[in-house]
Amino acid sequence: MAKIHVMDEILANKIAAGEVVEKCASVVKELVENSIDAGSTEIKVELKEAGTKEIKVVDNGIGMDKEDAVTAFARHATSKIIDEDDLFNITTLGFRGEALASIASVSKVVLLTSTGNVGTKVVINGGKLEENVPFETIKGTSITVSDLFYNTPARLKHMKSLYTELANIVDYMNKIALSHTDIRFTLINNGNVLLKTDGSSNMLKVIHSIFGYDVTKKMLALKGENDDYIVEGYTSLPEVHRSNKNGIITLVNGRVVHNTQIIRTINDSYHSYKPDNRYPITILNITVDPHIIDVNIHPTKMDIKFSKIEELCLLITNIIHDVISTKTLIPEIEVKDEEPLVNSDIVYEKPKYVEQTLDLSRVEEKEEAKVETLFKEIDEPIKLEIRERLPELYPIGLVHGTYIICENEIGMYLIDQHAAKERINYEKVLNALANPVHEVTSLLFPVTIELSNNEYIVLKQNMNILTDMGFKIEEFGINSIIVKEHPTWLPVGNEDLAIRKVVEMVVNLEHNFKLERFRDSLAALMACKMSIKANTMITKEEMEHLIDDLRQCNNPFNCPHGRPTLVKFTNYDLEKLFKRSGF
Ligand code: ZN
Ligand code: ZN
Repeated sequence: MAKIHVMDEILANKIAAGEVVEKCASVVKELVENSIDAGSTEIKVELKEAGTKEIKVVDNGIGMDKEDAVTAFARHATSKIIDEDDLFNITTLGFRGEALASIASVSKVVLLTSTGNVGTKVVINGGKLEENVPFETIKGTSITVSDLFYNTPARLKHMKSLYTELANIVDYMNKIALSHTDIRFTLINNGNVLLKTDGSSNMLKVIHSIFGYDVTKKMLALKGENDDYIVEGYTSLPEVHRSNKNGIITLVNGRVVHNTQIIRTINDSYHSYKPDNRYPITILNITVDPHIIDVNIHPTKMDIKFSKIEELCLLITNIIHDVISTKTLIPEIEVKDEEPLVNSDIVYEKPKYVEQTLDLSRVEEKEEAKVETLFKEIDEPIKLEIRERLPELYPIGLVHGTYIICENEIGMYLIDQHAAKERINYEKVLNALANPVHEVTSLLFPVTIELSNNEYIVLKQNMNILTDMGFKIEEFGINSIIVKEHPTWLPVGNEDLAIRKVVEMVVNLEHNFKLERFRDSLAALMACKMSIKANTMITKEEMEHLIDDLRQCNNPFNCPHGRPTLVKFTNYDLEKLFKRSGF
């Protein structure tokens, strides 16, 4: 019985309007989603030259009978019943009748398929049916698309570089593997395995396949819920961060969805734990009643609107805070083994695309036990124990007036004294700003500041921000002010500069002023000015004092700019460094 129906004309046209086969990634997406729809538990994608020469997708799905095998390439054919209102509830996105015909018109397609009985072979070349014969093959479908765009040279030129093609395909495959953890996926390019998942429904294992061992071992499990949402997944330790947002992947009810506000929330949750312009690796699945989300499906991307987005963002912020605020976050300076233990990393941070050739089976066998233990550890319920986050640290000495060397029974630590002092002062100023006690210092020599006419207007409108902080300011001639008192937390010796900076910040924050953000950047700036510079010798007592103060901080591990305040060398790593451990 034929399973493919011709799709409702109106809907088909609607979809076709935005649908063109432009990139190899679209072709891969098309074929892989067909395989998923066919109920496959194993899908293998093999590329030659990033797919520009050949794309082959093999699955173990239900296959097609000989009638469907040809109909599949007719325009507007789809095996799915699509109801526009119900697009999100169906398990698949079906825009595909159109796309398969488009692919066949610009390439050579060989289809081998079987429902378990007699199989079928179909060959279509540049849109023309060349072959349609019975063929002996196992249940499932194998489709090979070669010389994509060969008969349309203009388009071929427009195809992006191989790097971009491959990066797009890898990105797509990663996301589809995360949304279908129960399917075994393999992605191969020119014989190199780029992704291999085991279909065990374990998301952490998929994360391991995508990001490799070194990232996976620094992932933290997350879980939390409110009345409307359940959020769970994994997020990286703050020390793991990337130059782009590609590592932040959100799923809604198991489907990868892009929502800018959620991505920003995830990144902001790490504020001051890492540089703001670097991004964590976070995979979150959000479970929600489909009725309270508004899905706008476009053939190329999926946009989603949540009702109660503020509550959802608060939930995400809280669960990330809960997990990072209970951890000791001292980056370990790891001494690498000569041979990396697991080298399945696919580093695709522009501009370098390092595709490591690896022998997965060998690595898998050797490391399986180790990886399994890791998965168990990460998935252990989060312990919210109150304990000293900073271990005992005994200062030994100072290097270049900049780094304090410390020791304890675990190993050796280096503290960046400027970064540490900056963190201490930052929290002090933030605290003073949040709880003003109006301890002010009168200036012996008041500071006059001249502004432009429009700056002056902005400042006058926002004068309360300054007076609330404890500044005493009077007008002083045309477009000028005179500052007579300032709050005591201003850095001593730098008052003049600091006052100008504060006024400047108020003037520049005119648009979309957020008091919290203003306080934060002001505190970071003041902290930097107040803190000991590098190349300053301090005594051992001063070092001990600094460590004590650091211990009192909410986050003792990073300066306000997200750089580490200290790093660790374990005894084991030190031994490895000097080849003392068992090799
Ligand atoms: Zn600084
Ligand atoms: Zn800093």
